[in-house]
Amino acid sequence: MQFAIVNKERTVASPGQAGNCPACGGAMIAKCGTQRIHHWAHRGVRRCDSWWEAETAWHRAWKSRFPVEWREVVQYDQYGEKHIADVRTGHGLTIEFQHCHLKPEERAARENFYGNMVWVVDGARLTRDLPRFAEGASWFIRTARKGLYIVPFPDEVFPKNWLGCRVPVIIDFCNANGLSEETKCLTWPLWCLLPGRVRGHAAVLQLSREVFVSWAHAGARPIPAQAILQDVGRYLLEQKQLAEREALRATMLARQYHGWPRQGLRRRYARF
Ligand SMILES: [Zn+2]
Repeated sequence: MQFAIVNKERTVASPGQAGNCPACGGAMIAKCGTQRIHHWAHRGVRRCDSWWEAETAWHRAWKSRFPVEWREVVQYDQYGEKHIADVRTGHGLTIEFQHCHLKPEERAARENFYGNMVWVVDGARLTRDLPRFAEGASWFIRTARKGLYIVPFPDEVFPKNWLGCRVPVIIDFCNANGLSEETKCLTWPLWCLLPGRVRGHAAVLQLSREVFVSWAHAGARPIPAQAILQDVGRYLLEQKQLAEREALRATMLARQYHGWPRQGLRRRYARF
């Protein structure tokens, strides 16, 4: 953890220091070696939050974009269960930065516990994730809304573990390797997979780190997923109706030029 309580103050780790855990009150010692980022660890093998994962420089860089008082906030539910949110904004939004693999049950449990939350996932964990995303991105359908794309086959584009989330999942590929120069641009922005599907299609928002952080500062629900999904539904319906009109027009033209038998035509029209 980045903070422990020393003399009643949240304090970052420095060599030789001792403190107490803000969640369980247990003794903590500062770990200030050269291999890992400086952090606090419980004395002995104790770990008070089973959901807590060892922090990396990636976690720390993300958390540093938010005010100190929003980081590592202990949250309780109505039954007294407690967990430490990576970031809990002043508007009540939890942001969890996830590098390690998560079992689907734990992922769902965290979403239930925190309620209003957003995942930010390290897209560099598995080497195949970015190449698969890059391949799938060629099928993205651009929409009138800046940065919003429709994904026809989400199962083939996003990591399996993150497909069934009930909250937005932001994938950060900034540390990933293995792309050609032409597709490197995919690693610069964040890609936010929205929860919910419309006729099997997903919606993904491309946004910068700065935009995401400013949205999180601005309000409790930074990403209007439901409204966006409704727009996507309307767009897909319009496209379907357009395709049907085009097909009908083509049939009419064919009749005009080739004089198809009336019976056959009636069968064709019956579809519309
Ligand atoms: Zn503790």
